[in-house]
Amino acid sequence: MPVKDERPDSSHREPHRQDSGARLNWLRAAVLGANDGIVSTAGLVIGVAGATSSTRALLTAGLAGLLAGSLSMAAGEYVSVSTQRDAEKATLDVERAELADDPDAELAELAGLYQAKGLSAALAHRVAEELTAHDALGAHAETELGLDPEQLTNPWHAAGASAVSFAVGALLPLLAIVLPPASVRLFITVGAVLLALAACGWTSARFGRAPVRPAVLRNVLGGALAMAVTYGAGALLGHSGT
Ligand SMILES: [Zn+2]
Repeated sequence: MPVKDERPDSSHREPHRQDSGARLNWLRAAVLGANDGIVSTAGLVIGVAGATSSTRALLTAGLAGLLAGSLSMAAGEYVSVSTQRDAEKATLDVERAELADDPDAELAELAGLYQAKGLSAALAHRVAEELTAHDALGAHAETELGLDPEQLTNPWHAAGASAVSFAVGALLPLLAIVLPPASVRLFITVGAVLLALAACGWTSARFGRAPVRPAVLRNVLGGALAMAVTYGAGALLGHSGT
């Protein structure tokens, strides 16, 4: 099967696909966030279920885990996107200053880059001239730096999206453990979590154009292992206490 070159990172830019590429990135991030919410909250509530059958304790633990996880995801995402954005802005500032200081050298540099891409010297020079007249910073940002000055990621949006997707994922094990009767809650939670993890693995493999089966297996086995470990820890603690 031919593999299309559509990497989710922004190392390559194709104007017509930029929009759908960005949307794909958001979808993948949302699926990853939900996956995180499912695994960590499932581990938490199943660990608590190993120690106690109190629905109230399960609800409290699950809600606390949902909130703590969402906030921590949001904070982490905010910091990492802000840092990246600052670095990109600083790079663009340097470029802007160079363009103001020495436009001739910058024009020659741009022409050189187009020539390196395969254009003849004369055509590369003309392209560089016309793009410089149109939007010098945009042309340098795209060709030289691989950046789009109009499309820097907003850290607040990224933080909000991670928090929401984590919370949506976390709701699944939380509801699955508190809603059913105590006798079946573990089976229902484990089953629902494994199904949801299979769906997440399938979706992110499809978005990333990776082979589906290993992605699904990895995701399901990872979640199963997490639940087994926390259940064991909870059961040990539950039996050693009163
Ligand atoms: Zn430049």
